[in-house]
Amino acid sequence: MSTVKDHAELAQVFNNDEKRVDWHDETLWFVRAKRDRASHGIPDWELLRETASQIKHNVLSNMHNYLVQFEDKALANGVKVHWAANAAEHNAIVLSILKEKGIDRMVKSKSMLTEECHLNDFLQDNGVEVIDSDLGERIVQLAKEPPSHIVLPCIHKKKEEIGDIFHEHLGTAAGESDPQILTETARQHLREVFLTRRAALTGVNFAIAETGEFVVCTNEGNADMGAHLADVHIASMGFEKLIPQRKHLSVFLRLLTRSATGQPITTYSSHFKKPRPGQQMHIIIVDNGRSIQLGREDFRNSLKCIRCGACMNTCPVYRRSGGHSYHTAVAGPIGSILAPNLDMKKYSDLPFASTLCGSCSNVCPVKIDIHDQLYKWRQVIVKNGYSTKTKTAMMKGMTLALSSPAIFNFSGKAGRLALKFIPFAVNNGLNPWYKQRDMPAPPEGSFTDWYKKNRKGEKS
Ligand code: SF4
Repeated sequence: MSTVKDHAELAQVFNNDEKRVDWHDETLWFVRAKRDRASHGIPDWELLRETASQIKHNVLSNMHNYLVQFEDKALANGVKVHWAANAAEHNAIVLSILKEKGIDRMVKSKSMLTEECHLNDFLQDNGVEVIDSDLGERIVQLAKEPPSHIVLPCIHKKKEEIGDIFHEHLGTAAGESDPQILTETARQHLREVFLTRRAALTGVNFAIAETGEFVVCTNEGNADMGAHLADVHIASMGFEKLIPQRKHLSVFLRLLTRSATGQPITTYSSHFKKPRPGQQMHIIIVDNGRSIQLGREDFRNSLKCIRCGACMNTCPVYRRSGGHSYHTAVAGPIGSILAPNLDMKKYSDLPFASTLCGSCSNVCPVKIDIHDQLYKWRQVIVKNGYSTKTKTAMMKGMTLALSSPAIFNFSGKAGRLALKFIPFAVNNGLNPWYKQRDMPAPPEGSFTDWYKKNRKGEKS
């Protein structure tokens, strides 16, 4: 495998375990079907999607005002507000807050932003222990793996594998894979963590400009446990998490979990407005490439994303290639739009990891034109010279063939003859298409031949 990570090569690794691929595919499709049932239960679903999209459109167009308004209100509420231009600044701010308080152990609930910033590794390198408190995140943390899905971080793992991880790290009996017993073990383990950590970091699902408060959605209540028991609460948010007013929250809360897991509402949607007496509350507002994406007209709508994961659950490529094949914090269709913005060369493979079927755009609760953006990224990547040498050569060959009828007809004839008489020239291990598919039998003649014979002179 080459040193530059490539989705197709990493997907091949996942595909080596066929049973896992089938089970991963079916499980995510089950979640997608639940989402369909939940959305069909709301007559105004399409209106809700359109409303959410328009609210976010307003936010993206007035970001400068809403950010200032949010900061003013948060400061007035007694919250300390920090601004981070990039991942390094974000991580340094978290460390400085902890150092100032002499804290070297922290509990953290789910935050894809901290995955994006590689916060855990940074803190560990600086002598701070971080324990993830979301159950799925804790499992992948113990397995020393990144999450493979933004909502279901360990969806790629079977319960037997989780049993082995718990046996090694949390002392459950060898071979124990009963979900009830494993969950209870995690509960006891995390309880001790919640009670002993003086700092808690949470993500932010929605930040309300009107009031300066922020809302964190979890199904396990782990963000609340950490934040309520800690002396210091740090909340990390990408600046696109803003919504203008509290009343807008109802639109997003109705969409979020129905789209994510098919539940009518997240179990805990907790509002944090001001620190309790004696507590410190910090909000770190992070850019890390978002303002560049905001300035890319074709891609700015990707900042409307509320991280529900629906586009992943429905994507035929994601379901059969696994989240780790995307080699970035946010996998799947939306990750393939966000990642090239951060590093076009490193993630130039991702916009091509799609069938462009449009299913992602159809399920997106904020109506992001995901598949159109993937198609546009392909053009940008090719124009900037980041497509692979093979693909560039093939495209040049196609341009030549398609711009000359003589070459096109000759190539078609040569291809048909090759498939008929020397099929191994096309159907061999060097042809990635042939690795997992049969080539169709070659037609006897070209469409032009058929048309001349059957239709020439006909009037439509
Ligand atoms: S792009 Fe849309 S469907 Fe995908 S995670 Fe974001 S909000 Fe959900």
